Amino acid sequence: MSVYSPKRTAPRMIEAAVVSDNHQLKFEKLRLSAPRRNEVGVRIVACGICHTDISFFSPGAVLGHEGAGIVEQIGSAVTTVKPGDHVVLSFQSCGQCDACSAHRPADCEHFSTLNFGFSRLDGSSAYPPGISGHFFGQSSFASYALVTEQNLVKVGKSLPLATLAPLGCGLQTGAGTVMNTLKVKKSDRLLVIGTGAVGMAAVMAAKIAGAKEIIALDQHQHRRDLALELGATEAMKTGKERSLRETLDYVIDTAGVSALDKLGQDALKDGGTMVRLTGTGGATLSRGRKILSVIQGDSVAQAFIPKMITLWQAGQFPFDRLLHFYDFQDIRQAIDDAACGKVMKAVLRWPAQA
Ligand SMILES: [Zn+2]
Ligand SMILES: [Zn+2]
Repeated sequence: MSVYSPKRTAPRMIEAAVVSDNHQLKFEKLRLSAPRRNEVGVRIVACGICHTDISFFSPGAVLGHEGAGIVEQIGSAVTTVKPGDHVVLSFQSCGQCDACSAHRPADCEHFSTLNFGFSRLDGSSAYPPGISGHFFGQSSFASYALVTEQNLVKVGKSLPLATLAPLGCGLQTGAGTVMNTLKVKKSDRLLVIGTGAVGMAAVMAAKIAGAKEIIALDQHQHRRDLALELGATEAMKTGKERSLRETLDYVIDTAGVSALDKLGQDALKDGGTMVRLTGTGGATLSRGRKILSVIQGDSVAQAFIPKMITLWQAGQFPFDRLLHFYDFQDIRQAIDDAACGKVMKAVLRWPAQA
């Protein structure tokens, strides 16, 4: 007879949204291996949709990297969470390389393998053959995910997990760029190009920092209006920009449109910095101007997500206004709405369990 132990682990049958050959999504029941000694099994309650999910659509993939849920199983070496704990999931890092040891997990030397490699670091997979899981170390478009202590953040049990889910990537990236990377100050003037969820998080964070000028640039009227409500001091319509030549300390580009990128470069004053959150690289400019490529707002999720939650509770970071909730079964609709910009941040929810 076996004695119950909270550290006893077993394989699970899970339900996951798998990308099919014709690029649709089909819910499938899959067998997921038991957590390894350093892994944590999390029942997913909700998951945000981010544009990175859309760009990794390939047959067999289980995407989703803004998960939130409840710990159900832990491996024998796990010490920081126990079954029943509520967690928000974020990007994966190895926890051991030089960058991780220096508390810079967004620069982890294994970032690409662990987040986009669809396997564990050693190349193995907990998913059946033909299924690409472990996306961002979570693959949270599913009822259950295997994560590690590096990409989970414990949160209070009274907090709404579905609201917190999108803090793990997009919102962290926008707010972290302002607060962690650029350390925006009161005297600063900045331009945010594109006010989807990432850009809007940057606007809200710049307001918290007290920036002197926060200019939002977007093609959509409703986004410009919301940016003004959430802290922008000015909102400009794409194509109708006033001259910003050499006036700004910072430009944050979330759009990745080359004409706007050029506009951003020209708007920088001497020594100013442009951050591209679009995955495109950059070169050094003249007059001491710099272009940075920033990952995840240089955030340590375990510190930055609680910080964003505290700011939200204080009414200073009202990111909940960007969210639209969908049932997990309506994932196709949610992705379509997110892709065309109809909603700013779609969040999928599993039906509440008794
Ligand atoms: Zn690392
Ligand atoms: Zn993302």
